[in-house]
Amino acid sequence: RAKNEGRGTCRRYDASMGAQIRDRRQLEHDLRHAVARGELELVYQPQTQIESGTITGFEALLRWRHPERGSISPAVFVPIAEETGAILEIGAWVLREACRAAAGWPNPLAIAVNVSAVQLHNPLFVQFVHGTLYESGLKAERLELEITETALIRDPARALLTLRQLKALGVRIAMDDFGTGYSSLSNLRSFPFDRIKIDGSFIKAVHSNPQGAAIVRSVLGLGRGLGLAVVAEGVETAEELSFLADEQCHIAQGYLLGRPAPIARFAAHTHGAAPAAAVA
Ligand code: C2E
Ligand code: MG
Ligand code: MG
Ligand code: MG
Repeated sequence: RAKNEGRGTCRRYDASMGAQIRDRRQLEHDLRHAVARGELELVYQPQTQIESGTITGFEALLRWRHPERGSISPAVFVPIAEETGAILEIGAWVLREACRAAAGWPNPLAIAVNVSAVQLHNPLFVQFVHGTLYESGLKAERLELEITETALIRDPARALLTLRQLKALGVRIAMDDFGTGYSSLSNLRSFPFDRIKIDGSFIKAVHSNPQGAAIVRSVLGLGRGLGLAVVAEGVETAEELSFLADEQCHIAQGYLLGRPAPIARFAAHTHGAAPAAAVA
């Protein structure tokens, strides 16, 4: 009897594993067609200069409107797209779409685009960025590429070469999610970053959390010492923002200052130059 129960348990376990694998295969398959079917969308989140309160740019964040499952988070589907290679087509779509939109905004509003490790290591990436800037008419200095430290570790020599070539085009490079994952201070010295984005996990209740405050202060000190602007991610409360202002953090991004939304929501800021429709 115990044997039977064991088998039953085992069978149920197998069945749910099978369902998970089928589920994942289905997502992989659907993802391959997501670009062609127009299911991807970009939302934009403002980046605000803390001292002046002015919006200096927006980060483009990807959304997938799945026909049956509704909106799927990039935290779920980007890793799948990286494994299958679909991220190359998706990432190309993101960069084109973001540059095309930003080209219609008043100068000097900037656009920040997240770049996956797989894109960064693609031999055609630099050429693609160059071509996309040219096609969109966006000036290189208004494009910022966000890269996580994890993207550097697979092949640091190659990553360094690519980042130098991107810098030569005139684009800015931001280190995303600083302080999480494979953080190493030598990355800040070895790679040509322009900005550090402190991960939102360190910003949470920073005003009332001595450890968080110490970490944020030390990153701000690093930024000052190395001549890098520091962006605080995930700013949700006025208390967090006022701590960051007191510590002379440059830029803040988070729900307090604006949730990621379709760009039309920010029309008051992004209209003024030629409308995107006239450029396209
Ligand atoms: P990220 O680049 O670090 O983006 C910040 C994430 O924090 C975004 O999640 C954003 O919506 C969220 N966020 C912003 N403000 C707040 C806040 O005040 N509180 C909290 N709790 N969260 C906040 P999202 O949009 O779900 O994106 C998750 C991650 O997916 C991104 O992290 C980025 O690594 C990746 N991702 C997003 N778009 C793209 C893309 O176009 N390409 C690639 N390769 N990755 C992308
Ligand atoms: Mg980012
Ligand atoms: Mg981040
Ligand atoms: Mg992140």
